[in-house]
Amino acid sequence: MRIILLGSPGAGKGTLAAEMSKKYSVAHISTGDIFRENVKNNTPLGREARYYMDAGKLVPDDIVNAMMEDRLREPDCEKGFILDGFPRTVPQAKALEKILEDLHLSLDGVVFLDVDEETVVKRLSGRRTCRSCGAIYNVAFRPSAKGDRCEKCGGELYQREDDSEEVIRKRLKVFYDQTAPVISYYEGKNMFVRLRSARNSHSLLEELEAAFGGTE
Ligand code: ADP
Ligand code: ZN
Repeated sequence: MRIILLGSPGAGKGTLAAEMSKKYSVAHISTGDIFRENVKNNTPLGREARYYMDAGKLVPDDIVNAMMEDRLREPDCEKGFILDGFPRTVPQAKALEKILEDLHLSLDGVVFLDVDEETVVKRLSGRRTCRSCGAIYNVAFRPSAKGDRCEKCGGELYQREDDSEEVIRKRLKVFYDQTAPVISYYEGKNMFVRLRSARNSHSLLEELEAAFGGTE
């Protein structure tokens, strides 16, 4: 299974990708998570990416493309992958095509999680992430039963730097300007599926499976 998840910030890509990756034993590749990990470890990539991330801007294409080229060549991708947060620009989509061509791989589907802006702002401003295991909660829609600790592992829940309302607005503008064209790029190809993003990621997973005609 090789799938791309598209959608605005807060559309629910991360949650759905995590579920799919678990159910189908394929790699979950989140460019945002890779960048945050690099920022945390203060790597050269992290130092470069941080400036853009904190401003709500996209990391330049050449940096992202080079990173993804390496990532997709790692052995865990052989069983398949779910791309969460890539491609985010048309040049990235073209770079991905080239990478897959070199690897003699094709995509099974492109899934667009379609969600309105109001919902996105509510979700992102309430989002909390576990520092230890990466589980995602929402103070409004899906609070942790353990308050400010993770239900699954007891880790500390934190709010991402770029989930402030001001930066959320900027990220949404970047999405409409730069990522919406990627949707048009894939739309009309027969492997394209549009899903209305719901609150419950379970129902999304079911809808997605129905759209792809059962298990893959
Ligand atoms: P969200 O989808 O909620 O905006 P992500 O975790 O996917 O958050 O990404 C966080 C930040 O990482 C982005 O705002 C951007 O700066 C950077 N980033 C992630 N993926 C890409 C990409 N494909 N191209 C450029 N920048 C990216
Ligand atoms: Zn946890």
